[in-house]
Amino acid sequence: MHAVTPIPYRVAARRHESADTVTLDLVPATEPLRPFRPGQFAMLYPFGAGEIPVSVSRIADGVLGHTVRAVGKVSDALCRAETGCWIGVRGPYGTVWQTPPAGSDVVIVSGGIGLAPLRPLIHQLLGQADAFGRISVLAGFRNPGEVLFLDELPRWRYLTDTRLTVDHPEPGWRGGTGLVTTLLADTAFRPDHCAAYLCGPEPMMRATARALLARGVPGERIRVSLERNMRCATGWCGHCQLGPTLVCRDGPVFGWDRVADDLAIPER
Ligand SMILES: Cc1cc2nc3c(=O)[nH]c(=O)nc-3n(C[C@H](O)[C@H](O)[C@H](O)COP(=O)(O)OP(=O)(O)OC[C@H]3O[C@@H](n4cnc5c(N)ncnc54)[C@H](O)[C@@H]3O)c2cc1C
Repeated sequence: MHAVTPIPYRVAARRHESADTVTLDLVPATEPLRPFRPGQFAMLYPFGAGEIPVSVSRIADGVLGHTVRAVGKVSDALCRAETGCWIGVRGPYGTVWQTPPAGSDVVIVSGGIGLAPLRPLIHQLLGQADAFGRISVLAGFRNPGEVLFLDELPRWRYLTDTRLTVDHPEPGWRGGTGLVTTLLADTAFRPDHCAAYLCGPEPMMRATARALLARGVPGERIRVSLERNMRCATGWCGHCQLGPTLVCRDGPVFGWDRVADDLAIPER
């Protein structure tokens, strides 16, 4: 049974990741919620503004990190929450990024804010990198100013093959240019010993999943996080229905084999 009453959490720290994206570190006022796991999300309620689902982007002792892009009323209120503000939090909700099998190669592919839900998985893998084969993190953004978690990238690069690409490069940009699937084409992995994790806009996940399937990765080894708009987060309202599934109740993390038909759009 999920807790449905928001618990007050205080904004202990906030960091601007880019012009419209902020990472909030939240600490509980009293008893914390149950521990979150990579891939799960919380319903965040900036008092008086409304409530939205936001994935956990950092899981540390006593601290819950969320990275929010301001796209509307509630996300904007969260991005403007100052240190010391109180926010209502309920959760944890949703399915998790399952840990890859020991020894397998790992391919993590994100588009834009989609890197945020993958960050706790990356942190987990960094802590046990010896247990896996080659770990690749491929992240696409619209432009260099939107790159997330800049201060962490050197550590990621030390232990993984982390590469970035942007749609619109600017002078001085040293990463790639173009869709994140172009990075995937240059990425080495063993298709039959590989676990893939994707999060970003649905067209990006479709294109990436197709490229992985074409390289021989089985559909059930490709995990995607579907961030369909939702309201209750407990399977009651039906707002996030996708074919026979409710994203809040059955997801947001799914095997590609389970959602491919419902996400497929006719080829032009
Ligand atoms: C499981 C889950 C995890 C999420 N994790 C994150 C996260 O880590 N960081 C983050 O910034 N956002 C995340 N989101 C998206 C976030 O919930 C939406 O941006 C938010 O609900 C928008 O609410 P709003 O009131 O700010 O804007 P609204 O005024 O409700 O919407 C503004 C615009 O954004 C569109 N929109 C709203 N929700 C979504 C959505 N889910 N997907 C695509 N377009 C949408 C609307 O159609 C509208 O065009 C997640 C969503 C889900 C379902």
